[in-house]
Amino acid sequence: MVSKGATGVGLHLDFSEIDLSQTVSVIEHDLEVWKEFFLIGLCILEKELSMTRKVEFFDTSLRDGEQTPGVNFSIKEKVAIAKQLEKWGISVIEAGFPAASPDSFAAVQEIAKVITKASVTGLARSVKSDIDACYEALKDAKHPQIHVFIATSPIHREFKLKKSKEEILEAVKEHVSYARSKFDIVEFSPEDATRTELDFLFQVVQTAVDAGATYINIPDTVGFTTPEEFANIFDYLVANVTSDHKVVFGVHCHDDLGMATANSLTAIKHGAGRVQGTINGIGERAGNVALEEVAVALEIRQDYYQVETDIVLNETINTSELVSRFSGIPVPKNKAVVGGNAFSHESGIHQDGVLKNPLTYEIITPELVGVKSNSLPLGKLSGRHAFVEKLKELALDFAESEINDLFAKFKVLADKKNEVTDADIRALIAGTTVENPEGFHFDDLQLTTNDDHTITADVQLVNGDGETVSCVAEGKGSVEAIFNAIDQFFNQSVQLLSYNIEAVTDGIDSQARVLVAVENTDTDTIFNSSGIDFDVLKASAIAYIHANTFVQKENAGEIGHQVSYRDLPANN
Ligand SMILES: [Zn+2]
Repeated sequence: MVSKGATGVGLHLDFSEIDLSQTVSVIEHDLEVWKEFFLIGLCILEKELSMTRKVEFFDTSLRDGEQTPGVNFSIKEKVAIAKQLEKWGISVIEAGFPAASPDSFAAVQEIAKVITKASVTGLARSVKSDIDACYEALKDAKHPQIHVFIATSPIHREFKLKKSKEEILEAVKEHVSYARSKFDIVEFSPEDATRTELDFLFQVVQTAVDAGATYINIPDTVGFTTPEEFANIFDYLVANVTSDHKVVFGVHCHDDLGMATANSLTAIKHGAGRVQGTINGIGERAGNVALEEVAVALEIRQDYYQVETDIVLNETINTSELVSRFSGIPVPKNKAVVGGNAFSHESGIHQDGVLKNPLTYEIITPELVGVKSNSLPLGKLSGRHAFVEKLKELALDFAESEINDLFAKFKVLADKKNEVTDADIRALIAGTTVENPEGFHFDDLQLTTNDDHTITADVQLVNGDGETVSCVAEGKGSVEAIFNAIDQFFNQSVQLLSYNIEAVTDGIDSQARVLVAVENTDTDTIFNSSGIDFDVLKASAIAYIHANTFVQKENAGEIGHQVSYRDLPANN
């Protein structure tokens, strides 16, 4: 003990002149200081020993995610998603493919202007004009990056590029070095890497690194690989690629065989320092890897993966909700990490175990991902201030001018419902995503059952100037009659692809959400849209009017036709 040692040292002192109690306290103080030094040293050592690698999260919801059929984010929606991604702790936001269309260029430009912490990147084929377009679109970005790619697998070489291996290596060298002359950070992806011969993949990657690439992304473009196979690819590349500058490996997985999360985590375990994906796993076909699954897996299994991330996990649900709302794609109830059932335990046995200790059957707590179990519902008496606070809590970002309108809608809802839950508020906001200030909106509808059991629908629409239009049509059922009436008004080539109803909350007083997908048969563009109302039929009318509004806007050139890099020649 400190006091014992201090007494011992004190034996050499002349006790008559010195106040003993003071001496002891001075020595005690010295020892405390040394002890502290020792402890700090230990801490540093411990930190050094357990120092974990950092994994960057790269989100491509706005680029690859937008390839999902029916998903057409407006620029305003893209900016809102980008801001939320930054809040969630994303390191790099792939804001689009600037060379694809003026719309895509403008979206990248707008996002570059508002994002300050995260890097903003754009996609470019191995084509100089694509790289130039990225450079121009990202001029205002605080931390610009570029993502250059070329396909490398035999099937892509033969049928898409019609290039030999040598020509591909030449193209990689030329375009990566050109990109490097304009950007400090250049990510290069050999498209369809997992179906590329390993020795050629190595040659491509080494060529890109030699040309100055700072990130090498290995995409499983068609969701083909398996964890074991992917581990071998990463082990081989990490062991053999040489460089005179820092190179970070990355991973980009698709979920065609349901292995995107497993493959991404395996790549991380085998050296990847950057993971690409989307929120809720949106993307073409079976989608991209769901980044929230990777983030939570790395957190829950920190013991195994031993990596750190910048992801702010308790913003996960807010991020997922926002992307679900703007994409018009609901999150399945049984979806890992963010699905509605992820935390509800219906079975009695489980519930008992969960009550005694939640970890018995739940490895992810609702709080970890930002589900607020103690969130207070609003009611009839809640004022504007409480409403605005709730919007903030739910990360719903609105301009002051928009809040008045939303608050008025909330008041109408609160009159009909005792408790206005978070889900109700989100649904309320969702009903306002189709901007159509000059156009016609749903006003009301009446249905009549005819003697022959057909239904006649009278749908009334109103515009901002108070003009009303009434459309009457028949159908075999209510929804058909309503949609026929709306078709009559818009008079466009529209095909209904899907129609779904869901309850926003539990209970008989729930609002109904109707989701429809329609195709503009003149352009083949698919639009997802939704409508919310207490009445299922009114919600159906609203959703279908919204969908028709999208088609109308596309036909008027107000919504750009979506262009993927697949729609463009592979090289020119
Ligand atoms: Zn992809």
